[in-house]
Amino acid sequence: TQIMSRGLPKQKPIEGVKQVIVVASGKGGVGKSTTAVNLALALAANDSSKAIGLLDVDVYGPSVPKMMNLKGNPELSQSNLMRPLLNYGIACMSMGFLVEESEPVVWRGLMVMSAIEKLLRQCYMRVSLASKSAVIVSTPQDIALMDAHKGAEMFRRVHVPVLGLVQNMSVFQCPKCKHKTHIFGADGARKLAQTLGLEVLGDIPLHLNIREASDTGQPIVFSQPESDEAKAYLRIAVEV
Ligand code: ADP
Repeated sequence: TQIMSRGLPKQKPIEGVKQVIVVASGKGGVGKSTTAVNLALALAANDSSKAIGLLDVDVYGPSVPKMMNLKGNPELSQSNLMRPLLNYGIACMSMGFLVEESEPVVWRGLMVMSAIEKLLRQCYMRVSLASKSAVIVSTPQDIALMDAHKGAEMFRRVHVPVLGLVQNMSVFQCPKCKHKTHIFGADGARKLAQTLGLEVLGDIPLHLNIREASDTGQPIVFSQPESDEAKAYLRIAVEV
């Protein structure tokens, strides 16, 4: 997010991209990548006429290659642009395709910006940019919400409309006794959305299947589209 925020004010269109939805959070580990991956799949599932791309701008710990079961280096097009890697019908680009899996990225500031510029602009896509907006992911925990609040404020300052909040890991239901526990709190994102005048686009439960599906590179929207968890992502895709 922070990296994107520094890149966004330039307002330069990304060649070949019609609509950009930034999936952001303030805090790490709240489920940004999981949401982005499943949202991309859900958008594609809801409207097969759309070509969906997924750009992972996490330079230090890219997780999209693993979540989308993709490996290898992008080929170059005739005009020397990187071709995104494709799986489950989604064109993906990630720093993870450009460095070895175990290799640490030790860049800072300008080097990171230049890497992201490359991922954004030296990548082969189709049409031309029309609009951009953001979705903010947060758990209902105070510390995550505080950072989500800052994220929303940042988007306001750079004039990127926020479509709404996704409340992730809001409830855990014990598979045995069916008891529901709100591990990170019950409806923090809902309250924050009210404060900010934003919509809650959806609630994603904390569920073993979501984690396992991501870890095996078979995101839940792809591998278990009929599950309640996948349906939660599909509903969000309709909202955005
Ligand atoms: P971020 O991109 O914000 O750092 P991730 O999407 O990588 O967060 O999620 C952090 C961890 O939590 C991952 O291991 C992921 O599989 C898991 N996770 C995310 N959302 C859920 C969920 N709703 N239920 C279960 N596990 C989840």
